[in-house]
Amino acid sequence: MAGFRSLAYQVRDARNDRALRRHSLRRCLERFAPYGHRATWWHLCDRHGIAPEDRGADPLRLVAALEELEDARSVWLAYERQFAERRRREKHHGLRRPEWAWGGSGDAVVRCADPGVRPEGTLGEVLRRLVRALESAPGTACPVCGDEELRWSAVPAVGAWEGAWAWDGPVCAGCGIVVPRPALADAPTAGAA
Ligand SMILES: [Zn+2]
Repeated sequence: MAGFRSLAYQVRDARNDRALRRHSLRRCLERFAPYGHRATWWHLCDRHGIAPEDRGADPLRLVAALEELEDARSVWLAYERQFAERRRREKHHGLRRPEWAWGGSGDAVVRCADPGVRPEGTLGEVLRRLVRALESAPGTACPVCGDEELRWSAVPAVGAWEGAWAWDGPVCAGCGIVVPRPALADAPTAGAA
């Protein structure tokens, strides 16, 4: 199975035809799609002027979209590394924290409850805001847009999260993300403090 980096190489490789370059970008989203697969694709299409169904999309636009995705991925991988490192240290010192782990880099980091409603800004900006929030004390507002209005609604189970996301989740009324529980002060899993 091709990894993210070799797929990214295929997107950039000018010897490939347009359809293959686009297909490779879409496959990158199987490895990393912070909003979920469809929402992330629509987001990239919107920002980079790609028609979602256009198999002959301009390769320059595909590469620009890839760069945005890579930036977000580097933000997230750095966070995951640091998170794993901290947990290892805490375990060593006998500290117990609520279990919290992403299912892997193929899973959505901040799923959009509705793929048509997404936060403003680049993926990297959004993930930097999320990481800042996760690294500070849990709050009561959305970590991405700051909106205080969270609506609890059913979050669709998708892909690798099938089952795991079939619960009621706090959805931000401002930007539409499902707010990760560890970022919320009154979340049942955030009671370690
Ligand atoms: Zn929000």
